[in-house]
Amino acid sequence: MKRVCEKCGVEKEIEDFTEKKDCCQSRTHVCVSCTKKQRAKRYLKNKEKILKQAKDRYIENRESILKDANERYAKNVNGRRDKRIAYSKNNRERIRATSRKYWSKNKEKKAEKDKRYQEKNKVFLAGKKKEHYEKNRESYSEKGKERYVNKREVILAQNREYRVKNKDELDEKASVRSKARVENLEPVYIKQTIRGQTGLRNKEITQEMIEEKRELLLIHRKLKEIREWDHANKI
Ligand SMILES: [Zn+2]
Repeated sequence: MKRVCEKCGVEKEIEDFTEKKDCCQSRTHVCVSCTKKQRAKRYLKNKEKILKQAKDRYIENRESILKDANERYAKNVNGRRDKRIAYSKNNRERIRATSRKYWSKNKEKKAEKDKRYQEKNKVFLAGKKKEHYEKNRESYSEKGKERYVNKREVILAQNREYRVKNKDELDEKASVRSKARVENLEPVYIKQTIRGQTGLRNKEITQEMIEEKRELLLIHRKLKEIREWDHANKI
């Protein structure tokens, strides 16, 4: 079935007209894209008024709006996560291609990003490297092994010296890293929180618990943000 839009005069499929919420399942006579355009136009024209109305409504119904929002948010935690996971799984190639394209166009940014990543994950990467070596130890030739061991002693000594010399700077860096762990809700930090609150040990904390705790912490942060916003706006 088709219908001609009263606004743009184009004949379109009936699905391009919104179903009305009335008894008879009738549809609008203006097509979806025209409706969107009208709505956008109306919004731009009355922006100030609309924003003020929304703000007034928020102030008036703050409690219930917050309650609803939080309930909806908490209820849909798993749904959102599943959606996120499914999306990246289903679009893996496309996401990768887009990302590759972007970074090949922004080489300088990529270099900066890589550097930041290296900085941020220095300890982790060093651990990985060591792990790799330990795992592939056998495949290193005797000579290579010897060279490695010798070099290792030198490097360890250099590291020790470096640590002593740059203690303040390194402490500062460690503190920045620790703040970042809190800021980004990294698993290490979340586990630490769970341990503190439950007395569980690391190996007893499951991935699911970490995810749940992360969502909770996010909600707390959101609420705090809202409270601060209210305070700043003297509500
Ligand atoms: Zn139209």
